Amino acid sequence: MGNTEFDAVIVGSGPNGLAAGITLQQAGLSVLIVEAKSSIGGGMRSAELTLPGYLHDVCSAIHPMALLSPFFAALPLDKFGLEMIQPTLAAAHPLDDGTAAVLDQSIVHTALRLGADEGAYLDLMGPLVETLPGLLPELLGPLRWPSQPVSLAKFGLKALPSAWATGKRFKTKAAAGLWAGMAAHAIQPLENIATSAFAIMLMAAAHLKGWPIPKGGSQSIADALASYFSSLGGKIETGFEVSSLTQLPGSKVVLMDVTPKQLLRIAGDRLTASYRARLENYRHGPGVFKVDWALDEPIPFTAADCRKAGTVHLGNTLEEIAQYERNVAKGIQGEKPFVLVAQQSLFDSSRAPEGKHTAWAYCHVPNGSKVDMTGEIESQIERFAPGFRDIIKAKHTMNAAEMEGYNPNYIGGDINGGIQDIFQLYSRPVLSISPYRTSARDIYLCSSSTPPGGGVHGMCGYHAARQALKDVFKIIIEK
Ligand SMILES: Cc1cc2nc3c(=O)[nH]c(=O)nc-3n(C[C@H](O)[C@H](O)[C@H](O)COP(=O)(O)OP(=O)(O)OC[C@H]3O[C@@H](n4cnc5c(N)ncnc54)[C@H](O)[C@@H]3O)c2cc1C
Repeated sequence: MGNTEFDAVIVGSGPNGLAAGITLQQAGLSVLIVEAKSSIGGGMRSAELTLPGYLHDVCSAIHPMALLSPFFAALPLDKFGLEMIQPTLAAAHPLDDGTAAVLDQSIVHTALRLGADEGAYLDLMGPLVETLPGLLPELLGPLRWPSQPVSLAKFGLKALPSAWATGKRFKTKAAAGLWAGMAAHAIQPLENIATSAFAIMLMAAAHLKGWPIPKGGSQSIADALASYFSSLGGKIETGFEVSSLTQLPGSKVVLMDVTPKQLLRIAGDRLTASYRARLENYRHGPGVFKVDWALDEPIPFTAADCRKAGTVHLGNTLEEIAQYERNVAKGIQGEKPFVLVAQQSLFDSSRAPEGKHTAWAYCHVPNGSKVDMTGEIESQIERFAPGFRDIIKAKHTMNAAEMEGYNPNYIGGDINGGIQDIFQLYSRPVLSISPYRTSARDIYLCSSSTPPGGGVHGMCGYHAARQALKDVFKIIIEK
């Protein structure tokens, strides 16, 4: 690309853009990251959205995937200011009878609380918790020949069924509901094949590493990654929105932390017609509607365990959650949404003035929806925490269309950079030996629209950078 001022330029400073930058800079290259917004971080920004002194996570809040990430684990992020806090309980799932199922860091405690399903939970999760660490490098990367085929096959036998089928094997409402709430992170009908994989990953993550929140907000992860990148000599420029590659300084390679739709807009003229056609077939999933509150008190959940959990899933039973997610996938806005709530200020006093609190929540909605779900979300919280509405001081909302306005990577409010069903789980954005390559030899895709997909883990950026190092610079980094 013309004169080469940098070895590599990266467009976008989300977790994957930063991870790609770090990987290339660690290999001795000179790297510039350009970011459209005035602050770095993509889905890791935190801001005072409601009132002064109340710090909210604009997008991501809870970080099991960051702790599972082999890439992040190898970085000295603690030395660059990152402190992860483990809530007393990873997650809680209240039921209409006032009780709650819990996801504890201890698999035994989690199982014990499930009564008649204690054995079923241990049978399902026990072997997976043992084998998952060894499988992580493969599960969190592109499809390749497995190094542990037997363990992977055993994992696949449990991950491939639908969450609906596996959930129906539990006898209690508590176990089935807890399972359904975890699987609903897939943002697709729970009857879909391989939706069990989402519940398994999240539950195993809790038992292996917990579901932490970063002290000072998710922005602290972005800041730690950026500081480390800068310490290696990397450069970052904010307020630089790229609409054409001609705006960029010369480099040997460009890595794009964007979705296929944006890639087509920005660099379509550099791609072959057949690759463009394949990108145009890429599919997005439902969007999200998000609310942040400044509160006078912690959410007054009836079930005491919900007041000890970093995350609370509101949807009652497997059937209720499945019904809501099924409708959303069909483009129907149902009532009684499945709501994901995070209570960061319970565990991190830096989020709100003394004695005050914040809460974060979202529900899934049809892609591109402009429907205001504030009332429905608050009613679901009120259902399990009577009196919630009385403690609200201020709120900030974003519908699915506004989500895309905030970050163009969230097409129609899709927070995973494309639906993660079985057809797009690893073949994202296209089925290829290396999905990070595009048809142009000097342009790579490094966002969550590549394997392993959504979440703050940096593995898409890491794998894209590894591929670019190998192809363009003939540098091979092991694992
Ligand atoms: C409401 C919500 C809740 C979430 N909760 C969690 C959670 O709790 N835990 C979790 O792990 N994940 C969560 N996620 C998902 C997570 O945030 C994303 O999967 C992750 O941020 C994707 O990373 P990325 O680097 O691929 O893209 P992004 O983080 O989206 O970053 C892309 C960056 O590129 C920039 N950019 C785009 N186009 C251009 C351009 N043309 N020029 C210059 N810059 C550009 C954008 O401004 C942005 O900064 C959540 C997301 C949302 C929205």
